[in-house]
Amino acid sequence: MIDLNDLLEQVWPIAAQQAMRTESVELKNALSRVLAEDVVSTLNVPQHDNSGMDGYAVRCADLQPGQPFRVSQRVPAGSSPQHLQPGTVARIFTGAPIPPGADSVIMQEDAVVNDDASVTFNALSKPGQWIRRAGEDIASGQVVLSKGTRLDAIHVGLLASIGVPAVTVTKRLKVGVMVTGSELQSPGEVLQPGQIYNSNEYVWCGLLESMNMEVRSVGIVPDNFEATCTALQSLADCDAVISSGGVSVGEEDHVKPAIEKVGQLRSWKVAMKPGKPIAFGHINRPGGGQSWFFGLPGNPVSSAVAFQLIVKPFLGLLEGQARNEVDWRSRMRKVKADFAWSKPDSRREEFLRVDVQSDKAGLFANQSSGVLTSLASSSGLIRLAKGQQVEPGGWVDYVSYQDLMK
Ligand code: AMP
Ligand code: MG
Repeated sequence: MIDLNDLLEQVWPIAAQQAMRTESVELKNALSRVLAEDVVSTLNVPQHDNSGMDGYAVRCADLQPGQPFRVSQRVPAGSSPQHLQPGTVARIFTGAPIPPGADSVIMQEDAVVNDDASVTFNALSKPGQWIRRAGEDIASGQVVLSKGTRLDAIHVGLLASIGVPAVTVTKRLKVGVMVTGSELQSPGEVLQPGQIYNSNEYVWCGLLESMNMEVRSVGIVPDNFEATCTALQSLADCDAVISSGGVSVGEEDHVKPAIEKVGQLRSWKVAMKPGKPIAFGHINRPGGGQSWFFGLPGNPVSSAVAFQLIVKPFLGLLEGQARNEVDWRSRMRKVKADFAWSKPDSRREEFLRVDVQSDKAGLFANQSSGVLTSLASSSGLIRLAKGQQVEPGGWVDYVSYQDLMK
């Protein structure tokens, strides 16, 4: 058996070494794409010192308690103010540029408007009060987002805030999906005796689509050597192919022999639970070149967990994502176990489905690798080392599904 960490060090660098092609996309199409180069701001954000409040722009040195001031100009957001006349104040609104000569803003709640339209202030002010400084958010020349970032909605908004209309991203990854199993039936069809519904395809395709990858699924493939070879070859033009089920060594497990026929296979027993047997390799393309291949176990929890921990980061790296983004191990944190785990596996590390609230991890009662509700009702995974026992109140390592999805 191979330890998960050792497997990741063997497999992930292969993906990170691949050269990727790039293209330019408009900002509105950039969500979930991976930046192919650093983005540097060419401007200060904000561009000018501006007001953080509705109120009055003043010069502090002019202020006297109880003294009325003439309002010499009105500065709404989007306008270009005049120099502040000495001994006067300017009416100003949130986001409006500070008039030259003013050094502070007094909020309108601290001002009284007199009958003659002059204002008297209830509070004094310090220079800089309620002023947002030019460049305090982003300075011109600053790297705003670095190469290898998968863009989320906030990132795209940040790019908009520096006026970038388009970005250079890596080409979308094309991922092939197949699910093996003669017992599988599609939702919408009537289950015959012994059949079960295919759920793995939906989990994977959903996760891949949420990363904006191009998914090509051939769906259900029966447990038959020829059919498995045909399905694999039909997906050979993808950048990577994932298949579920049929990776053990039973007579009905055809994935490994099929990969040996249509490409090259390396397979491991990974010392982890769930998700032990993993096949890895490539499929040869008829015209030259190859597609990376992962064969994961069919059990719904094994297939989802192995996908998240091993395959998804590999695909992210293949698409040009930075290692620090995809390596979920750096996002693990300690939480307190609200459960006991007294019979650990001495040979395999274990990933337990838990629901964490206020840093306390509650264990989902059924940890069987076939129980998809354990994933649906949990917030993330606890990683237990081989032989690690847990007592209630003990600290354990946790990663949330949200963090796994970066
Ligand atoms: P296998 O890895 O092919 O031995 O499958 C292990 C278990 O996972 C079996 O109980 C299968 O019925 C189940 N299984 C396999 N593929 C799927 C799938 N696509 N969706 C849901 N369950 C599956
Ligand atoms: Mg099977």
